[in-house]
Amino acid sequence: MRLLVTGGTGFIGSHACADLLARGHEVTIVDNLANSRADVVERIAAVAGRRPRFIMGDVRDRDAMLAVLRGQGIEGVLHFAALKAVAESWEKPLAYYDNNVGGSLALLHAMQEASVDLLVFSSSATVYGDPEHCPVDETAPRRGTNPYARTKLMTEDIIADIASQRRTFRAATLRYFNPAGAHPSGLLGEEPSGVPNNLMPYVAQVAAGERSEVQVFGGDYPTPDGTGVRDYIHVVDLARAHSEALEYLVREQRCLTVNLGTGRGYSVLDVITAFERACGRTIPRKLVPRRSGDVAACYADASRAFELLGWRARLGIERMCEDAWRWQSRRAARD
Ligand code: NAD
Ligand code: UDP
Repeated sequence: MRLLVTGGTGFIGSHACADLLARGHEVTIVDNLANSRADVVERIAAVAGRRPRFIMGDVRDRDAMLAVLRGQGIEGVLHFAALKAVAESWEKPLAYYDNNVGGSLALLHAMQEASVDLLVFSSSATVYGDPEHCPVDETAPRRGTNPYARTKLMTEDIIADIASQRRTFRAATLRYFNPAGAHPSGLLGEEPSGVPNNLMPYVAQVAAGERSEVQVFGGDYPTPDGTGVRDYIHVVDLARAHSEALEYLVREQRCLTVNLGTGRGYSVLDVITAFERACGRTIPRKLVPRRSGDVAACYADASRAFELLGWRARLGIERMCEDAWRWQSRRAARD
């Protein structure tokens, strides 16, 4: 298929592009490089053995999106482009609604005008807020507890409303748990600008000696070791799910909402220990107070993804840490 990937030079989008290209799809990336670099395109090509087309652009530019959809004869869209930092979303709510909701609206308008009816959307487990129980399945109540989460909730609702109105429209809403790891080649991975917000890139930078210690946010949660528990999912597994969701939309001609996680929870201390094994170094850490807005535990019931897509995570926490460490080491050497 001829596919448009918005945010395709970003962390998850770049891995999805590599997977889609390897399956024979034609990929056009639109990214404004707000949180990624143009040289990712070469690295995607090196991994996949085929080049994506790259267009520097902003998804909020409806006319530009329409021109891409028509000009490239696009048949389906994978929509990753978004701002994603929860703390920043409290500081700049308007920027988050504008980019994430406004960007999705402009894209959806352009898709309607160009009669493009297939969409795979990057949602997040953050739509569950503080889940009443874990593992959390797709029927759990959704609550947006911060502006970023609300942009995902709103976009999910907009997509559902379009799907109920336009009979030909098919969307896959994918709720990611905690994406981690990197491509095993060491060529693709996460490039946080400034201080990483997420645990695994922070741990990787401490392991590399770029930061002095990991701050463990809270040791008094009602979890086995008192630290927060999350469902870390290897980005390569996550990427594969996008291709499989797209195939589902084409095959089944129905919409889809699924959790993408491993179904297993790991604490902050579990992650640090696994990373120590992967890099063969001791990782200094310090217990500090809870980070505001964090929940004690969140992990997926990922059975629907297996039932509908035949997808399940193959790579565990050890591989996530090994691949993240390889990426960290090569990135430090490259920069
Ligand atoms: P990322 O920042 O690495 O990638 C997002 C890409 O979108 C970047 O390359 C950025 O330059 C681009 N972008 C942002 N706004 C744009 C715009 N208006 N027009 C064009 N390009 C734009 O983030 P990621 O981790 O790869 O996340 C991808 C998607 O997955 C996002 O929608 C994010 O909300 C969602 N998600 C991420 C996580 C996570 O922890 N990484 C978890 C759940 C959901
Ligand atoms: N965390 C931590 N120190 C950090 C970053 C994160 O202790 O420097 C904890 C955080 O409190 C949570 C887990 O690690 O329990 C995962 O956090 P992350 O920000 O990676 O993902 P989230 O689940 O918050 O989206």
